[in-house]
Amino acid sequence: MNKKRCTAVVLAAGSGSRMKSDVAKQYMSLCGRPLIWYALHAIEESSVIDDCILVTGAEDISYVEKEIVTKYGFRKVDAVVGGGKERYDSVYEALRVIADDKLKTPNRDGYVFIHDGARPFLTEEILERCYKEVAHSGACVAGMPVKDTVKIADSEGYASQTPDRSYVWQIQTPQVFNTLLIIEAYDKLMREKDRLSAAKVKITDDAMVVETLMDTPVKLVKGSYENIKITTPEDMVTAEAFVRKNG
Ligand code: C5P
Repeated sequence: MNKKRCTAVVLAAGSGSRMKSDVAKQYMSLCGRPLIWYALHAIEESSVIDDCILVTGAEDISYVEKEIVTKYGFRKVDAVVGGGKERYDSVYEALRVIADDKLKTPNRDGYVFIHDGARPFLTEEILERCYKEVAHSGACVAGMPVKDTVKIADSEGYASQTPDRSYVWQIQTPQVFNTLLIIEAYDKLMREKDRLSAAKVKITDDAMVVETLMDTPVKLVKGSYENIKITTPEDMVTAEAFVRKNG
């Protein structure tokens, strides 16, 4: 079977306010390299991913082109685009590049791998598992079963439900979809976002867009417990330990 074209969307347009740092978290140094380097490196080396759209703050585009893409020779990065206010706005900007045929090689009937730039421990194994699954089901996301018991709280902060742990997953990225499916889902989201926000639906990942607006089930694929998102300062300590361990 011919391999289909795979475009990665790497998101690095967040403000990272929970990091309490002067430098935006995606450029903070992790063992001597900018945090965003790690995900881009995994993509550059991958035999699954063909090209990449990097989404950054609109004011950081030329810095990122020079100090990240050119400096480290990330040849798969085809476009650096400015993101938006919410994560889903940033994803939408990247999907416009694909939908408007602005990639050097069009990706119309392939797949899109949406990945948080703040997750440095993306591996080829995860990318391969996602490729296999998306080729089968059209929509899948990486995640891991939770280790702790999870409780749903009521509005007063009391435990109200304890879901069966074997069905509860923590969701990661990559989140991977048929190109046309994810473009259509986000077009729909942009048309319906006022209605959704009036109904207090808060869109926090791409799977949710597909689950909420499309008639396509999203399969959960094993990521890894190391595939953490760097959000708060203590995550950097864990990340440094992982980088050292992995050599
Ligand atoms: O805010 P959170 O940690 O969930 O962000 C996940 C990823 O999405 C990060 O890599 C962040 O840079 C990116 N993001 C973005 N545009 C936004 C918000 C977040 O690209 N408006």
